[in-house]
Amino acid sequence: MITAIKIINDIQSLFFPEICFGCHNILNPNEETICTCCRHNLALSNSYQASPNEVLKIFQGRLKLQHASTLLHFQKKGITQELIHNLKYKGHQDIGVFLGNWMGSLLKETDYYQNIDYVIPVPLHRKKLRKRGYNQVTTFAKAVATKIDAEFRNDLISRVKHASTQTMKSRAKRWQELKTSFKIVKPNAFLNKHVLIIDDIITTGSTIEACVKEVLLQTNCKVSVTSMAITI
Ligand SMILES: [Zn+2]
Repeated sequence: MITAIKIINDIQSLFFPEICFGCHNILNPNEETICTCCRHNLALSNSYQASPNEVLKIFQGRLKLQHASTLLHFQKKGITQELIHNLKYKGHQDIGVFLGNWMGSLLKETDYYQNIDYVIPVPLHRKKLRKRGYNQVTTFAKAVATKIDAEFRNDLISRVKHASTQTMKSRAKRWQELKTSFKIVKPNAFLNKHVLIIDDIITTGSTIEACVKEVLLQTNCKVSVTSMAITI
């Protein structure tokens, strides 16, 4: 039976070969999502094992965090951009699994992420969720949670404001709107917990800041942060 499945898979990959999201070459059977060459060309961050680091620096003076990290550095027109674009806008949620397994394995190696209770993706507003069909952070967060033996929870925080034209607004106006965007649904669930909040890309850190501030304001818990990439 297993041999039969393998033969079917081999035949399938012969006619529909998997393509590398980075360079668009055909993947070898032992490669997944991106080829070995592209994987080596990704700008990997060592923030997961360092303190201080470049992600903690973004939130310095803004949030009291246990730790903060990112898997990658975002490069414009680079492989990271290609990966996240395909994950976010083209429905390739398998990219989230690939990156999440990778990040989870790294986090598992360090002391900072040993006692995480919940892994929580930054929520999307229901209108945006309906439009896209999925939260692009979900598969990444689920894979991280499995690797670090924590519970994936997307029912504890909700996004109550839909900011559709963020790029058109001034930074001050955007912040005004963002800071009241998140609502804690079940404050009691956070009691004495250590939660890991996850976003896709951290640029100014405003989204994470708004979300985490609401968590710290409403609950008694420890918060760490991680992401797929940061833009600096
Ligand atoms: Zn490639």
